[in-house]
Amino acid sequence: MPLTPVSGTPDPDGNDCVACGRCCHHGPRTVHLLESDEGRMGKRLLALYTDFDAKPPWMRFVKNEGSRCGGLDVSVEGRYPCSVYDVRPEDCRIVEAGSPACLEARALGHLGDSIAYKRVR
Ligand code: SF4
Ligand code: SF4
Repeated sequence: MPLTPVSGTPDPDGNDCVACGRCCHHGPRTVHLLESDEGRMGKRLLALYTDFDAKPPWMRFVKNEGSRCGGLDVSVEGRYPCSVYDVRPEDCRIVEAGSPACLEARALGHLGDSIAYKRVR
């Protein structure tokens, strides 16, 4: 289930992110990995949290769990820490707390379209 919208501007240092998690709610094939992301994540985490296309264009994406990223740890109700935070892909790093994409995600309850133009494909 997508989350409900949340109001207000978050702490720019990201201190509200674990209680928010809205930008980590999105459809499948949203968080794409670059080669540098794959190197940083390493084989074990790649196997656990990502899928690689079985046919061209041979892209790798973080797995989804329903309407959210499969990397999101939802073991504690109301908390949304990233299981791979230190090695998360560039696609995730460009959504900074307080940025337009962040504010859109909070308003929608999930990641919106405004992030697309910034992503490297
Ligand atoms: S939507 Fe913004 S405040 Fe919420 S988790 Fe993402 S970056 Fe953090
Ligand atoms: S990898 Fe982590 S930061 Fe990126 S969308 Fe998934 S849970 Fe969020």
